[in-house]
Amino acid sequence: MGGAKLKYKRVILKVTGEVLAGAQKYGIDSKMVRAFAEEIKEVKEMGCEMALVIGGGNILRGAEASEGGMERATADYMGMLATVINSLALQDALEKSGVSTRVMSAIEMRQVAEPYIRRRATRHLEKGRVVIFAGGTGNPYFTTDTTASLRAMEIGADVILKATKVKGVYDADPLKHEGAKMYGELTYIEVLNKELKVMDSTAISLCMDNQLPIVVFNIMEKGNIKRVVRGEGIGTLVSAGKR
Ligand code: UDP
Repeated sequence: MGGAKLKYKRVILKVTGEVLAGAQKYGIDSKMVRAFAEEIKEVKEMGCEMALVIGGGNILRGAEASEGGMERATADYMGMLATVINSLALQDALEKSGVSTRVMSAIEMRQVAEPYIRRRATRHLEKGRVVIFAGGTGNPYFTTDTTASLRAMEIGADVILKATKVKGVYDADPLKHEGAKMYGELTYIEVLNKELKVMDSTAISLCMDNQLPIVVFNIMEKGNIKRVVRGEGIGTLVSAGKR
């Protein structure tokens, strides 16, 4: 398929729920979901095996909801359910554009998604289906970043593609500080020590312990997922050591 050279053959793409909300910041913007599905389709056609982890931040984040007085674990379960809603929206858009998909949920709900079974997930990928991991890890007090790390390890992904709204990892928030500098490469330890906002520390530690590279890149720029899997060197690479 495609014949294009791929640097990464099997990838996990982590997308925060906010990307699906588009300009409205809350809920699901169907235009955004369709555009995103088209991008994924193009990468799929290059022969890349793709699994997706979608966050739930466009609907609910447990930590924020618990600040209002709700029990944290309950709020986290609500957050996990939010990721299922997002996963179904994305599945719908992908299937409409002709991409075969499976949603696998860490929280069992047989009517809407398959339960997550590792061997089944890898089989789906081998058959060319896009697998969407819904329901986070199934445990409160975790995030979908950690879900992406965990699933990446389980399915033997070559890399985590961490999609953001900025070009990569900066030394300060580039939306607030004009002079913020972007890093081309970082080690896991640097990310942890400098408390850089790549992914939460649980997710980073898991990648560090298992030497799984992370590429942080801007998903708002069309064609970027393709560029990353081809190894065009955009964004910030987080790995064990600099080249
Ligand atoms: N969540 C959880 N366990 C997990 C994954 C997610 O409890 O394994 C909950 C948590 O409350 C989180 C919410 O689901 O705030 C949505 O996920 P996340 O914040 O990672 O979404 P994103 O910020 O990527 O949109």
